[in-house]
Amino acid sequence: MQIELITIGDELLLGFTIDTNAAHIARQLAPLGVEIVRRATVGDDSSVIAAAVSEALARTGAVITTGGLGPTSDDVTRPAIAAVFGRELRLDDEILARITALFESRGYKGPIPPSNIVQAMVPEGAVVLVNRHGTAPGIWLEDDQRRWVAMLPGVPREMRGMLAEELVPRVAALVEGYPVVVRSRTLRSTGIAESAIADKLTTPAEAALARLSVAYLPGADGVDVRLTVRGLASSAADELLAGGAAAVRERLGSGIYGEEEDDLAAVVLELCRSRKWRISVAESCTGGLLGARLTAIPGSSDVVLGGVIAYADDIKASLLGVPPDLLREHGAVSEAVAAAMAAGARDRTGAEVALAITGIAGPGGGSEAKPVGTVWLAMSAGGKTSSLKRIFVGDRGEIRHRAVQFALDMLRRELAEP
Ligand code: AMP
Ligand code: MG
Repeated sequence: MQIELITIGDELLLGFTIDTNAAHIARQLAPLGVEIVRRATVGDDSSVIAAAVSEALARTGAVITTGGLGPTSDDVTRPAIAAVFGRELRLDDEILARITALFESRGYKGPIPPSNIVQAMVPEGAVVLVNRHGTAPGIWLEDDQRRWVAMLPGVPREMRGMLAEELVPRVAALVEGYPVVVRSRTLRSTGIAESAIADKLTTPAEAALARLSVAYLPGADGVDVRLTVRGLASSAADELLAGGAAAVRERLGSGIYGEEEDDLAAVVLELCRSRKWRISVAESCTGGLLGARLTAIPGSSDVVLGGVIAYADDIKASLLGVPPDLLREHGAVSEAVAAAMAAGARDRTGAEVALAITGIAGPGGGSEAKPVGTVWLAMSAGGKTSSLKRIFVGDRGEIRHRAVQFALDMLRRELAEP
């Protein structure tokens, strides 16, 4: 089944509110085999809403909207779509009773405000989608050709509740008899460029990927490879995805660190735990982000010992024992200093492994020899210290995030060796 989605609200167009509803709905409906084939966002304007809904209905005959069901005058979704179907609005006693009860349960006394009574007005012939999380009811409207529009509230919490409780069962009933799914599986890589991944997966062509769609999704964590199948029964889809995932792992080898929502920090902690290794960190340009990534994972205390935010040269020298000569001779962003930071952190904490990061996160401070984004990363473990230089792209936040991810990946690769 193909559905179009229209999210409604001036705040979405202005960019003040990020449209999280659209993403949530698409993800919730995919397992039913429903494809969101088009998404639009329109403002709180009756004629624009009516036009968008009419066009979408003409294409797919199945439309979901969110927003504009509130009690205020800027909420015009209900009358606008009622007009598309040529229906009048009438007062629904059941909804009014529900809203009255909700007000009473919140300790409100006196008559219900007129603007809330408006929320009990529904188009003739509509099915009411109950809102157990707020006042605005949802509406399901269908014409004699079985074309339908489902209107959900804009408030994400209310929308999610209504979607799960009221809309998903309805859509599931409609697609019964078409037991096909849209299903995805995501493999997470880091340290390999998007183009290199694409080359590895396509030359030579991989049969296991032929019937899948492959998406390359670069981000600050690395590149996620998402495999998707559409239009197959559930078991066939899983089988195809399993074959595809195995092929990607084979081609990309140690570049893959996890699947779905896996966090590289959690992967690293698990690897350390199995070797009984403890970690300490020495951070300059990342100012504690590496420590934060590691300690954000529940249960990290058996692996993480601690670290030093050594931002100033004096602190690199006094707390990590970096020789002042090295700092003077090579500068704080250098192979020698990164290595000395890592060795110092390991020495002073007694950890089995220490990671160090020193770099230029920008926007200022770059030079021809050391442009913004230049970062030296070092790892000290088992008596040896290794360092690597990278030049990361992005703004200050991205450079810092990428540096942390890279440091974690240095350790992962070290631990993954047999
Ligand atoms: P409404 O139902 O149009 O009155 O929307 C109520 C509130 O829900 C708005 O102020 C937004 O903060 C939020 N909202 C509306 N639409 C969306 C959306 N598509 N994604 C996320 N939040 C939304
Ligand atoms: Mg609104």
